[in-house]
Amino acid sequence: MGNIIRSTEEIVSCSDNGQHPLVYINLKDGIARCQYCGQKFEKVDTESHAPKNTA
Ligand SMILES: [Zn+2]
Repeated sequence: MGNIIRSTEEIVSCSDNGQHPLVYINLKDGIARCQYCGQKFEKVDTESHAPKNTA
């Protein structure tokens, strides 16, 4: 456990695989946790190793 889910989206959803009601979590502060299951989420700017197509 202690896993942090990283997302490039500012809003993430969590239902702990249906174990609790679906909730949406705002990551505007950079990091937040689910009020039901305690899962931590972190906002990231880009996916790691994402290729950049700059012309
Ligand atoms: Zn949850």
